[in-house]
Amino acid sequence: MTAPVVTRFAPSPTGYLHIGGARTALFNWLYARGRGGKFLLRIEDTDRARSTPEATEAILRGLSWLGLDHDGEIVSQFENAPRHAEVARELLALGKAYKCFSTPEEIETFREEARAEGRSTLFRSPWRDADPATHPDAPYAIRIKAPLEGETVIRDRVQGDVTIRNDQLDDMILLRSDGTPVYMLAVVVDDHDMGVTHVIRGDDHLNNAARQMMIYDAMGWDVPVWAHIPLIHGSDGKKLSKRHGALGADEYQKMGYLAAGMRNYLARLGWSHGDDEFFTDAQAQEWFDLDGIRKSPAQFDLKKLENICG
Ligand code: GLU
Repeated sequence: MTAPVVTRFAPSPTGYLHIGGARTALFNWLYARGRGGKFLLRIEDTDRARSTPEATEAILRGLSWLGLDHDGEIVSQFENAPRHAEVARELLALGKAYKCFSTPEEIETFREEARAEGRSTLFRSPWRDADPATHPDAPYAIRIKAPLEGETVIRDRVQGDVTIRNDQLDDMILLRSDGTPVYMLAVVVDDHDMGVTHVIRGDDHLNNAARQMMIYDAMGWDVPVWAHIPLIHGSDGKKLSKRHGALGADEYQKMGYLAAGMRNYLARLGWSHGDDEFFTDAQAQEWFDLDGIRKSPAQFDLKKLENICG
């Protein structure tokens, strides 16, 4: 028996729910609901300086208006910080990570020298293989031991196999010297702990997947199915913004747009489904699949949106 599908929407609460976020949420919701799975919601509020409660509220209002109901409690990523730190320490104990005592100044000097000599500026810490007996009594960051050779292949359901040379991966920091976890670790630990089986998100996160796979591998955890969706562009081919008439979910709601129409419009944004007829939620859930997601960016079409929802 295959494991039940678990998807998630994991917005960073730094602004309202925009078209791109709403579409990501919808795709995850459709995929889970169509397969008797679970659709979870995690607020990625680790970045304390940029996260606001108002943005969280706006995102929740937008999802609720769109009818994208989630299962279980809403997870706050920030509240899981102690668990993220625990995993970093576990990797240290397993010998898959190490204490790095390099100071920001030393790292900058390394980079400057590498630049001057035309070498890769990826920081290679001298502490990777250092004998613990030589460790100073000083603050340290925990870094993962990145594979030095070979390749990492991201088997993506939308993008196909994406291969990254491992010598392009650095020993990224997992836990900063002030004890705070980095975002990349938080995402992996949360997805694992929440039992997420399918990560469906914007392809601006594709490069992160290779780095996140280092953590999955080091912990011996199953890597989820990846599906990185091409971003939405405006009619001029540029990244979608307010200039193209794209608004937040809140604003569409205030304008009296129909949520069902919005779901229909968003579902077709990057997902090809034969005809142009209006479909019900049950039909969308039944028909939606990852294979139908196009590899090229979807184009936002204000007229079409107004026709369907206005
Ligand atoms: N928090 C990220 C964002 O809002 C999403 C990360 C993810 O889906 O893995 O772009």
